[in-house]
Amino acid sequence: MAANEKIKTLFRIKKLRTVFIIYWVLLAYIIVALVFWFIELYRQNETIAAFRLEQIQSGIPSNAGYTASDVAKAREGHIHQYIGEGVTFLLFIIGGAVFIFRIVRRQFKQSQQQQNFMMAVAHELKTPIAVTKLNLETIQKHKLSEEQQSRLLVNTLQEANRLNDLCNNMLVASQIEGGGYNMINEQIELSQLIKDCIHDFGIRFPKKTIIANVAEHIIVNGDYLLLQLAINNLVDNAIKYADGKTPVHVSLHRADNLIQIVISDEGKGITGEDKERIFDKFYRVGNRHTKEAKGTGLGLYLTKKIIEQHKGSIIVTDNKPQGSNFVIDLYG
Ligand code: ADP
Repeated sequence: MAANEKIKTLFRIKKLRTVFIIYWVLLAYIIVALVFWFIELYRQNETIAAFRLEQIQSGIPSNAGYTASDVAKAREGHIHQYIGEGVTFLLFIIGGAVFIFRIVRRQFKQSQQQQNFMMAVAHELKTPIAVTKLNLETIQKHKLSEEQQSRLLVNTLQEANRLNDLCNNMLVASQIEGGGYNMINEQIELSQLIKDCIHDFGIRFPKKTIIANVAEHIIVNGDYLLLQLAINNLVDNAIKYADGKTPVHVSLHRADNLIQIVISDEGKGITGEDKERIFDKFYRVGNRHTKEAKGTGLGLYLTKKIIEQHKGSIIVTDNKPQGSNFVIDLYG
């Protein structure tokens, strides 16, 4: 993170802390004031009851013609009224305070994630452009052997593909969110789609082992581009978040009308509550290892949306002995 970004973040955290302090002080003040007024009213009630009793006992005729038992009843009635109203008020205040607190906290988290996303996107865009520029300049300025040239071109192509994936993710995410994406519903040979994805990743990552176990001729109804994007995101993650030497497994099977795709890796895996949260927009698991990997936190959010649009579901489970399985269930 650049120095001025750090300063901005620190400033924002400080500002937010001040807002939270004001919020808690105000809340505490309201509760203390409420308790204070309850005590005051209670005392006043006691004084009035004692005064009336005294009047009755000393034989002074009261205007309302109260007896001692009327005074006791009125005293108790008032106490119940104060307690009832006080507790209702307190519950409303606490309920409202918790509600507002949660909204503000969620907003803050979202804005922080959005900020991280913007930084990640800027970084994701800059890196492939810089690499591509450097590679092409090297080819242009230096006399390179055919092998050297081809290595640079493969590398440039990889970066261009990454840029393409990122743009597709952002475009489709914004279109799906805005309701502007018209999903095509056609018969898709899912087996071939998955094989093609694996083939493309094989070219992009020649050192990575991708073990495919894909049943033949499985057909689903859906949108080819969307499903391709979803599978690409999952295979890309399996490669990105697992050690280079460990294999990635991709399988496709059908049992009656259930079509299941499983993409597994042998990486660090995903712990407890992160299993749910990784599907949130912009969410990235916050340890050093994963933050070092490039990404925007958009891929799984979009993948889940796409699978849901195909009336399917996606979950993540632990791979044994280590890593993750992303399991997609589709019906057809
Ligand atoms: P990105 O990869 O761009 O950060 P994703 O939405 O694809 O965004 O993933 C969200 C987060 O989930 C990632 O940042 C990473 O922390 C975690 N994650 C996704 N796939 C895996 C995986 N196969 N193994 C471990 N962690 C993963």
